[in-house]
Amino acid sequence: MTGNQEFAARWQGALTNNYGTPALALVRGEGAQVWDADGKQYTDFVGGIAVNALGHAHPAIVTAVTEQISTLGHVSNLYASEPVLALGERLLQLFGRPGKVFFCNSGAEAVEAAFKIGRLTGRTHMVSTSGGFHGRTMGALALTGQPAKQGPFLPLPGDVTHVPYGDVEALRAAVTEETAFVIIEPIQGENGVVVPPAGYLTAAREITRATGTLLVLDEVQTGIGRCGQWFEHQAHEGVEPDIVTLAKGLGGGLPIGAVAAFGPVADLLQPGQHGTTFGGNPIACAAGLAVIDTIASDGLLDQVKERGERLRGGIEGFAHPLVSHVRGAGLLLGIVLTEPLAPQVQRAAQDAGFLVNAPAPDVVRLMPPYVLSEAEVDVFLQALPGVLDAAKSAADVDG
Ligand code: PMP
Repeated sequence: MTGNQEFAARWQGALTNNYGTPALALVRGEGAQVWDADGKQYTDFVGGIAVNALGHAHPAIVTAVTEQISTLGHVSNLYASEPVLALGERLLQLFGRPGKVFFCNSGAEAVEAAFKIGRLTGRTHMVSTSGGFHGRTMGALALTGQPAKQGPFLPLPGDVTHVPYGDVEALRAAVTEETAFVIIEPIQGENGVVVPPAGYLTAAREITRATGTLLVLDEVQTGIGRCGQWFEHQAHEGVEPDIVTLAKGLGGGLPIGAVAAFGPVADLLQPGQHGTTFGGNPIACAAGLAVIDTIASDGLLDQVKERGERLRGGIEGFAHPLVSHVRGAGLLLGIVLTEPLAPQVQRAAQDAGFLVNAPAPDVVRLMPPYVLSEAEVDVFLQALPGVLDAAKSAADVDG
């Protein structure tokens, strides 16, 4: 048995996981490189599902976490601590608007908090988008627009209308003065890196404002620099959401989520109405501060844009018959294939020493750490035509 197989056997004996038993066990990482249980090295274009903004074992996170756990590990929200205050203040500074931040532990929890804030408007109808992903707890799953994930758990809480993503007129028709909130991802990540038409977020803001409906932007995947600005909605001029949900990249690998509410919406949630033991944990918040400080001090927003463009230009430059085009922003990219061979591409990439992800049959998603070097991009670009050829041959053999 190989090291990876031993891990798989133990997994089957003890763990359950929506994604099935992993064929690969990772034992170590550094920057954008990871090593598996058999000593094989990979460039990591998955990054813990868009979590490891600074890559693996970044010294800034190691130091921040080590210092914090040696000083004050956990206090709960019954007490204040410096890291939670500093991270809340820092996030508001990055948003550039007055508001309030509630900390939790994941993306789904951030969405649940937004759901509850929405209920405090006194309205109960909600609008979300088809294909959208907002998490798998029951409230978040009700908003998630993917019937296959919802099916076994029906009925789900709440009165939710799902509208086609990117369709302004469908949104306008669905939102009424009974609608508490509209929730939208600036780019649909899990649905295969789907980018809406220009002006969509602006139109969503105008439509929600007209009916007194809250606009919730789910930036769990697109936020904290992933797309080349602190928050992807900042690329859409003038769009000011009422609520933004965050998680993933915020902790750089530590579990943390946040919901930020702005203006009068910030005061909807009253003390005693919501809470969680671990939310605002000082260690997770210290990691969050290290992530934000490092992105700022190392110029990583520009680097994300540059590496993203280099990847996109390189991939589209081959004109490989299996590649239609590349979509996304910054380092959240989807290689759209001309055939539904994304799982085969994922396997061929893994054989060649690259971890990539297949969120849809015809989309290969790249979401590497922001510290990805130019050389690492180029090694991937050199290997990719061969990987695509291998995927095509594997499909021909299977088929
Ligand atoms: N919202 C979005 C946009 C996401 O991409 C995800 C996770 N993929 C979630 C919410 C849920 O986050 P979590 O898995 O941390 O609960």
